[in-house]
Amino acid sequence: MKSNKHYTIPVFIPFAGCPFKCVFCDQNRITSRDGLPSPGDIVRIAETYLGTLPVDGAEIEIGFFGGTFTGLPIELQKKYLDTARTLIENTAISSIRLSTRPDRIDKQVIGLLRNYPVGTIELGVQSLDDHVLQLSGRGHTALDTLNASRLIKEAGFRLGHQIMIGLPGDTRETSMKTASDSAAMRPDDVRLYPVLVIEGTRLAEDYHAGRYSPLPLDDAVRIAADIIPLYEQAGAKIIRAGLHPSEELTSDGKLLAGPYHPSFKELVMTELWRREFESLPGDRLKHLKLTVPSHEINAAAGYRGQNKKLLIGKYRAVSFRGSDSLDGRRYDAVLD
Ligand code: SF4
Repeated sequence: MKSNKHYTIPVFIPFAGCPFKCVFCDQNRITSRDGLPSPGDIVRIAETYLGTLPVDGAEIEIGFFGGTFTGLPIELQKKYLDTARTLIENTAISSIRLSTRPDRIDKQVIGLLRNYPVGTIELGVQSLDDHVLQLSGRGHTALDTLNASRLIKEAGFRLGHQIMIGLPGDTRETSMKTASDSAAMRPDDVRLYPVLVIEGTRLAEDYHAGRYSPLPLDDAVRIAADIIPLYEQAGAKIIRAGLHPSEELTSDGKLLAGPYHPSFKELVMTELWRREFESLPGDRLKHLKLTVPSHEINAAAGYRGQNKKLLIGKYRAVSFRGSDSLDGRRYDAVLD
């Protein structure tokens, strides 16, 4: 039976191809990897992952992350792409995903990538506010993202957008504008990262000097919850909200500040469901029986049952059950 599961085998190329370091980025630390992989390393990484994945019917891609893939010297790009293509020809891997900067996409780059089984190109959009981009030392503009997104879509690749909230100069309004402008470019999938302050970055210097304050966790969760419906309405899939819990990032004291939470996405989904339930009138004499989409049952009850606890304050009892015929955040409420 086809599992419909989707997996990405990550290959990290920390900082490779980046023209400089963006203020918030310490990619070596985030990915916990140093140095560039050789083609042999890539094969070993792929084989290790393939040995653990349920390959039967699953869709598996190999992804190059952590740097600017299309900023690498052409010969190295070809070497990596050739290696990935050979893996696709000989294993259960079916496509390539790569992440890059918007200003490293042009017709020539697209022409090269079209010669390979590249499925998705992810752009490190971060913001679509030129002032925020400038303060974040990104070295490109919102127009670069618009042009790159158009070229990627026109060439038939899937488009990924990575955006950040809480960048220097960001406000809730600039974040919302970024998300709505990004959603209008019709990305297929989106990663949403709250900015964290990591030792060794320029942002850390600004933080120590009192020039930068990260978003409090509650604000980051609320802004992310404001943003996600914009993408949902545009048909984009949120494939990540928050940074992957990384042993090194949290345990070696290099994470200085910022809205880090190991279950950030769950907090955001909890908030989205809390908003759905907000208008329920409450009746201390009744049992509230909620039916929600099966795969949303944990999110609806909330992180550590937060939403359930809130509702219990308004009803005699509260129970949740899942249904496969509901989708999105649709639910049925019955009072008993
Ligand atoms: S382009 Fe991406 S990987 Fe490179 S320094 Fe900036 S944020 Fe980090």
